[in-house]
Amino acid sequence: MSRKLRPATQLVRGGLNRSNHGETSEAMFLTSGFVYDSAEQAEATFKSEIEHYQYSRFANPTTTMLEEKLALLEGADLCRLMATGMAAVHSALLSHLKTGDRLVASRALFGSCHWIVSTLLPRYGIEAEFVDGADLDQWKKALSTPAAMVLLESPSNPMLELVDVVAVAKLAHAAGALVVVDNVFATPLLQRPLEQGADIVVYSCTKHMDGQGRVLGGAVLGPKKWVTEVLMPFIRNTGPAMSPFNAWVILKGLETLKLRVDQMCRNAAAVADFLSERAEVARVLYPFRPDHPQHALAVKQMSGGGTLVTFDVKGGKAETFRFMNALKLVDVSNNLGDSRSLVTHPATTTHMRLPEEERARLGITAGTVRLSVGLEDVADLIEDLADALDAIGGAAAVRAAE
Ligand SMILES: *Cc1c(COP(=O)(O)O)cnc(C)c1O
Repeated sequence: MSRKLRPATQLVRGGLNRSNHGETSEAMFLTSGFVYDSAEQAEATFKSEIEHYQYSRFANPTTTMLEEKLALLEGADLCRLMATGMAAVHSALLSHLKTGDRLVASRALFGSCHWIVSTLLPRYGIEAEFVDGADLDQWKKALSTPAAMVLLESPSNPMLELVDVVAVAKLAHAAGALVVVDNVFATPLLQRPLEQGADIVVYSCTKHMDGQGRVLGGAVLGPKKWVTEVLMPFIRNTGPAMSPFNAWVILKGLETLKLRVDQMCRNAAAVADFLSERAEVARVLYPFRPDHPQHALAVKQMSGGGTLVTFDVKGGKAETFRFMNALKLVDVSNNLGDSRSLVTHPATTTHMRLPEEERARLGITAGTVRLSVGLEDVADLIEDLADALDAIGGAAAVRAAE
């Protein structure tokens, strides 16, 4: 088809490769290996003279359909799937970097990404430097020295801090670095890093793409030469492959990605507005609210505010836990991007391993709550949040009386 299809259509139709049975939905090829017609055909396959599936660690017809759908959606040459989002981040970095290389990363990274950069890479003699992602001067300074890669997350977990992708990509390219964007919070629908100058985009498909709490998955998208020459040999030989079963589940999830993300964004915006009116809440962070510190960048760089809202409950850990425990509809869980609304306390869960001063630097306090807004009726969500905030008032009164 020559006409460029829009994202909602790509999500439903993209990548579909029907077998000779003419099935409506994608077929699930639960097979580890493949057979050849002859020894000659096997030889020709291994010499890359013909195209034939070899082994599901390298490729599988079901995972190929998902790779093609995601590449189409992202506008990338190629996509390779991994078992988890962390396998995707790890493979993108470790396939490319070698001893003596330098990586510059925004400080506000997903906990495990932070560990890879701060702990794993230096073990292999790869120098890693963190900058405050929102501060272009720090990027300028760090990228005045040559670097091999830049890693950034925007919006970040959990403080929804943004990085100016266009500006950082320019600085990174001048320093000789490839730019890797972890685009999980924005989803492929709300932010287009490759169009903004990034070279490689990574996803946890566990989040919005499955979005229904079922399977783990990861994806790396990038230019043909890099994927075939750098990433592919790494993943063929180290084996972070996604199961074809998980690929099939994610294919089904993607058919409704746009419907879900659009509705979750509407719900999140309404929840953020509600929270900002409440006396128990010290501040609300939501990229599309005018009071977000980087609102201008958010509306320039993103086409929606996202599905997460982060806020500070007044008081401390006791008040915040009281609020979380009083929620009846919203679940306490560290996952995100799910159809069910989920709430987490980063200081004691996802970010507990960070040193205290690093948490403070990121702005994570004892009262910080990250809310992943789901698909429930927003009126029910707001009622649940209101009741739980009312319960803090009770706690404060009890303490005052003690
Ligand atoms: C969840 C997440 C990851 C890791 O993905 P997994 O599928 O859990 O391995 C990486 N980056 C961000 C921003 C995430 O939210």
